[in-house]
Amino acid sequence: MERAHDPWELTRARMVDEQLARRGITDARVLAAMRRVPRHRFVEEALRPRAYGDHPLPIGEEQTISQPYIVGLMTALLELEGGEKVLEIGTGSGYQTAVLAELARRVCSIERLPRLAERARALLEELGYTNVWIRVGSGTLGWPDEAPFDRILVTAGGPAVPPPLFQQLAEGGRMVVPLGDEVNQRLTLVEKVRGEMRTRSHGECKFVKLVGKYAWEA
Ligand code: SAH
Repeated sequence: MERAHDPWELTRARMVDEQLARRGITDARVLAAMRRVPRHRFVEEALRPRAYGDHPLPIGEEQTISQPYIVGLMTALLELEGGEKVLEIGTGSGYQTAVLAELARRVCSIERLPRLAERARALLEELGYTNVWIRVGSGTLGWPDEAPFDRILVTAGGPAVPPPLFQQLAEGGRMVVPLGDEVNQRLTLVEKVRGEMRTRSHGECKFVKLVGKYAWEA
């Protein structure tokens, strides 16, 4: 998407080089997408000077926008090629949603908190994304009407893979989900191979709680 001159462009390019490329994220499409998406727009004005820092930031309602490196890592693990239908659980600020929308055909995103969902929806529309659908709801149940999904990304940490999400993953599909306790998780890649679940763990992470029927209590 073409945009007018953006004073944050150099800062953003430096974020991608120093925090992502230098730490081993090599997927050129992911790096290019994160050079494009205006991350500062997804935080409140007072936090904009810190939007490209190497950390998560608060977005209200006790939730956070994930650290750039974690967004890059999760997105790279999905191995998007451009034609996929993606389900995201935990829209939050909508930043990760925008990165996915740059790289996939269509993104369906579920957020349980209406105010965050509304804000993300308005911003993504303003930024010109036309391949994103945001719904308020309980993400551990997935989005059955839109299933199956080629990729699923869960951006909050749960105790185990919610069964409806695995059911809604297409054969050969990939899901990335932080699994662990309420404080620490491991970034987990889940693949569906001939209907069976294969999992591989990709390092420690700290996410806000995944809340819902197949996760933690609110
Ligand atoms: N990708 C977002 C991360 C937001 S934090 C970003 O970078 O901005 C995780 C989000 O998951 C929070 O907004 C939280 O409200 C939401 N969430 C937690 N459990 C959920 C569930 N079961 N269904 C939908 N959203 C959920």
